[in-house]
Amino acid sequence: MNIDFTTATFKDFENIPKFDMVQRAEVFYDFLGYMKSNGHMNYRLKNNSGCSSVMNVDIENTQRDYVSFVSNDYLGFTQHPKVKQAAVEGIQKYGTGAGASPLIGGHFIFHDDLEKKISSFFGRKHEEAVIFTTGYTANSATLQILLQKEDIAIIDMAVHASMYEGCAFTNTKTFPHNNLIALEQVLKASEDKYRTKLVVIDGIYSQDGDVSPLKDIYNLVKKYNAFLMVDDAHGVGILGKTGRGALEEADMLDKVDIITGTFSKTFGNVGGYVITNEKLAAFIRFQSRQQIFSATAPPSTMGIIKAIELMDEEPYWRTKLWENINYFKKGLNDIGLETGNTCSAIVPVKIGDPNVTGDVGKLLIERGVYTNPILYPAVARKDARIRMAVMATHEREHLDKTLNAFEDINNKLHIAKK
Ligand code: PMP
Repeated sequence: MNIDFTTATFKDFENIPKFDMVQRAEVFYDFLGYMKSNGHMNYRLKNNSGCSSVMNVDIENTQRDYVSFVSNDYLGFTQHPKVKQAAVEGIQKYGTGAGASPLIGGHFIFHDDLEKKISSFFGRKHEEAVIFTTGYTANSATLQILLQKEDIAIIDMAVHASMYEGCAFTNTKTFPHNNLIALEQVLKASEDKYRTKLVVIDGIYSQDGDVSPLKDIYNLVKKYNAFLMVDDAHGVGILGKTGRGALEEADMLDKVDIITGTFSKTFGNVGGYVITNEKLAAFIRFQSRQQIFSATAPPSTMGIIKAIELMDEEPYWRTKLWENINYFKKGLNDIGLETGNTCSAIVPVKIGDPNVTGDVGKLLIERGVYTNPILYPAVARKDARIRMAVMATHEREHLDKTLNAFEDINNKLHIAKK
């Protein structure tokens, strides 16, 4: 089996018929070498400065500062002195690890405080929040334990990979991204066929940065007697009058059956959460395998408690982030670059061709700008793009430097769509 390296992406090496694991690894290893040779290998670069709008990165043993758009630390809270201090206090008081899963001794007072904080952040009761070690696990564990083989998950095609993973043991049907007509068809066809019907969507989608039509989806879900689960990992801290996210903006915070999210983005740490009703939360807390068999988050996650407080204490960061998003998006659009339907801090420059996208990523690195080229399977094969995450801590000069780089690259590669 020959794989054409010029058009291949990582996914093409996941399984190759007749190749055993060693052969697959060998051909993939060659592919990594090919990507390095054409300069498209800006994945897993070595960061030497932490999450920040300017990152010191080691490429081929040369360390240099880059304006960075690869971090989901949108508000800059990983570097906020008060958040850092709270994390350090956590380590000093409790040590570096929790040492056990929540069910068998790894649930500390600070974990309980964090559950209280995040539930009240969403205007809910303490008993309604369950925290996990990552957002990925919060999604996959919740779906794995709530849905069984008599049930169905009805999923927007663009949801996060963790949702897909959570559905391995249940029935699934996907519908085209944000397509209400297709969703209604699936709901209708599933009406009497499955025991529980759970519609699974994101609030803000991670590759396009666009928002879900939450109210319309909710109305369909109720019409067909289904349930709704929303992962707003990229909306919380950014959207809504008080930063409660896409659900606040749509006035839906108290309507959704299951809200999930992560502490790894605007909260500047690591971990995930599920907010649902008291009984479902208890079921997840005592039944999900990840709560029973996997260690809880370390005491440094005490920083999250401060980060949650800062959402209300320092709304300045959200204001500054939106100033940056609006300025940057306008600058890209003025060059003629296509940024799609984003209404969040995720700003994609849509290019289409994966190789041209790789070239743009390489030229940006040469110009001192660090971004992520996004290829299949994260997006469709012909929908490659440079994906950028704008931060509140980007200064005007960082954004201007990046816009100038895009302008020069566009003059060379003609990537503008307009
Ligand atoms: N949901 C979405 C929409 C995400 O983009 C991500 C992170 N890429 C996750 C969940 C997973 O979060 P975590 O990094 O906490 O595992």
